[in-house]
Amino acid sequence: MEKFVKNYVEGFMAGLVAKNPGEKEFHQAVKEVLESVAPYLEKYPYLLDQKIMERMVEPERVIMFRVPWMDDKGEIHVNRGFRVQMNSAIGPYKEGIRFHYSVNLSIMKFLAFEQTFKNSLTTLPMGGAKGGSDFSPRGKSDAEVMRFCQSFITELFRHIGADTDVPAGDIGVGGREVGYMFGQYKRLRDEFTGTFTGKGQAWGGSLLRPEATGYGACYFAQEMLATRGKSFEGQTVVVSGAGNVAQHAAEKAMRLGAKVVTLSDSDGFIYDPDGFDEEKIAYVKQLKNVIRGRIKEYVTRYPKAQYFPGERPWGIPCDIAMPCATQNEINAEDAAKLVAGGCYCVTEGANMPTTPEAIAIFQQAKLLYSPGKASNAGGVATSGLEMSQNSIRQKWTAEEVDKELHRIMSDIHAACVKYGTEEDGYINYVKGANIAGFIKVAGAMVDQGLV
Ligand code: NDP
Repeated sequence: MEKFVKNYVEGFMAGLVAKNPGEKEFHQAVKEVLESVAPYLEKYPYLLDQKIMERMVEPERVIMFRVPWMDDKGEIHVNRGFRVQMNSAIGPYKEGIRFHYSVNLSIMKFLAFEQTFKNSLTTLPMGGAKGGSDFSPRGKSDAEVMRFCQSFITELFRHIGADTDVPAGDIGVGGREVGYMFGQYKRLRDEFTGTFTGKGQAWGGSLLRPEATGYGACYFAQEMLATRGKSFEGQTVVVSGAGNVAQHAAEKAMRLGAKVVTLSDSDGFIYDPDGFDEEKIAYVKQLKNVIRGRIKEYVTRYPKAQYFPGERPWGIPCDIAMPCATQNEINAEDAAKLVAGGCYCVTEGANMPTTPEAIAIFQQAKLLYSPGKASNAGGVATSGLEMSQNSIRQKWTAEEVDKELHRIMSDIHAACVKYGTEEDGYINYVKGANIAGFIKVAGAMVDQGLV
């Protein structure tokens, strides 16, 4: 068994790296899934004959395009746009658009690959996709962001649609950007459909979609904690990021009784030893979403807090860590600091925020550790609920959406337990999420023939 897994993973990865050189994030994401599903493939060799993994790592379609736009001074800029339509075996392509200077094909492919498994875990009919551009909204005026979004959609509109591909937000894409993209899409298509989720409440958006990723991560963490007879009550929580996911993870953890002490952005982190309360969280939302300021401004408003420029928050002692910023933001050194600081639960809000070396440290120390594809699936799950509401032209109450979100997160947890529990009782959430996500997509691909 061990030998097969090692040979299979090494052989597969050699081919993948040769065919997709330089795409290190994509290699990392594929390797993690391969290591989990290889024993399953050995048990069900017809999946090897069907070349399911070979088909899964090859996107069904990659769209790459020029996005020209003009800034407020009349200067012309050219960015690169992407949409990776990875897998449509279980539903229309679905999920986020990322606007960040770091966006490249490797990051798009890793995110689209992860999304395929995540969407499968939600139990809803959604395929996997990701898109974006190396454009950063940071420091741009509203008018510049609008012109960029309109130019981006002027190409992308022909490749998406309510039954084809339904994008949503991600890093750098919130309600403002979704609004501009949806507006241009509607204008070009002359139709008002549920293409795009994360829409405004007045024009087809679902209640709780903005909150869903962070809230869902906390619901997932509650299930993890319960396996050890614990809850958020009285626990110290360290959160990274200060955007959509971080704000709502911090808010929900606080409301569940935890003391949440950090937030961060790419310039540094703030530590508030008293923990956040409703007023402080409301201030952060205003600062980040309306004023579009930096997290360091928090300490001017709340002088008991400290700002640590150029650092990440993982050295602060805590019980629970929730990385909610970006990929590979916890390395082996950070993981060692977390373990030494007493952390016993790491619930990912971001996508792939933990490096493979750091994951190994968490798992060796038998921490509760969940990968983003399981614990941050509440965002896309609620996008799926938004699609359902758009299809039946109805709007559910916040209570109805929250109940569904809660149920879905608890079902995902149960699936991880089912497929990830090791002989010694340790729940390997990485293995559980990968196998549970894989089985459904692989089965659908076999059913649909060689397409
Ligand atoms: P936002 O743009 O709202 O916030 C991102 C936050 O992360 C910002 O505080 C940003 O700081 C920080 N950040 C971004 N890049 C880096 C970096 N290289 N180093 C340190 N900090 C960084 O994005 P979201 O909150 O929507 O997304 C956060 C994570 O969650 C991403 O991994 C995303 O893929 C994932 N996710 C999001 C979902 C959603 O529904 N929005 C759904 C599922 C997953 P700065 O302002 O300095 O850039």
